Amino acid sequence: MKSARDLPSEHYTFEAIGEGIAFGRARPEGTGLSNTGVVDLGHSTLVFDTSLTLRSAREIHKASELLTHRPPTLTVNSHWHLDHILGNQLFADRPIYASQRTIEILLEKRAELTTELTPDKLEADIREFERQQSAASTEAGRRPYDAVLRINRAVLAEATELKLTLPSTSFEKELRLPGDRRATLLTFGSGHTESDTLLFLEQDRILFAGDLVVAENHPNLTSGDPAHWLVVLDRIEGLRPERIVTGHGPLGSLETVAAMRDYLTTVLELASQTGDPKMPSQYRSWAEPDQFTGNVAYARTRLAPKGPQPRDPG
Ligand SMILES: [Zn+2]
Repeated sequence: MKSARDLPSEHYTFEAIGEGIAFGRARPEGTGLSNTGVVDLGHSTLVFDTSLTLRSAREIHKASELLTHRPPTLTVNSHWHLDHILGNQLFADRPIYASQRTIEILLEKRAELTTELTPDKLEADIREFERQQSAASTEAGRRPYDAVLRINRAVLAEATELKLTLPSTSFEKELRLPGDRRATLLTFGSGHTESDTLLFLEQDRILFAGDLVVAENHPNLTSGDPAHWLVVLDRIEGLRPERIVTGHGPLGSLETVAAMRDYLTTVLELASQTGDPKMPSQYRSWAEPDQFTGNVAYARTRLAPKGPQPRDPG
């Protein structure tokens, strides 16, 4: 594997975290948005998550070639959120794996997501964000819109080229991938979304966790089951990984899983109380603080003892 210095780095910083294993951390100023990874499986090369834009996805593709001397031969989508799948079209000549439920959700949402990604809709969204930004009364209120606008404009710039590409190959609960390296896809049910896929490299004790484990970032709780997410974290701990490729933020470990557990427990506790939730001080420095209020509100809808719950209001 080449050194990380040789790699393209507008959207990602790549770091070798094992022999033939690279962690791609999304740069805050790039347009990839979510973390990624490249794994040499022996006679094939795996890419984990394909980022939000085609230009960042091209960088992942190039990293695969530079690091393993072959283009990606299989790709994995950890879940259906767009910042993990929009680069798929560059990898679609080979299988793109996702859990069965993730593919079902994407089929259910395909028409809606396709509309969301049309130039007209993206332009309208941008105009609305610009309006909200200028209506904000403080600098602190205006600031979060800078990143939102930058990302939306990056997607708009590629909208005519972009083709929402769904994963092609499903697995149900567990799938051992072919190759010399012991690499297994797993899903433990609803957590961040209704079905998130993990990649576990058993001998290397490295886990690719998607957004089930994020570091120094507020997780997004509004597409899955926050209470069952705690059960999923138990299963993750049971794998005894030493290093965890997070969905957002720096490389993680079991300590990062413990921090996720504390966060989820705190949100569930606040959701069971009435009144405006106050963000505990330890989470104020985490990225995406705007998620917090929505996370508590969503957890409240899950706790409410009434009728059938919506399957996916996010
Ligand atoms: Zn996500």
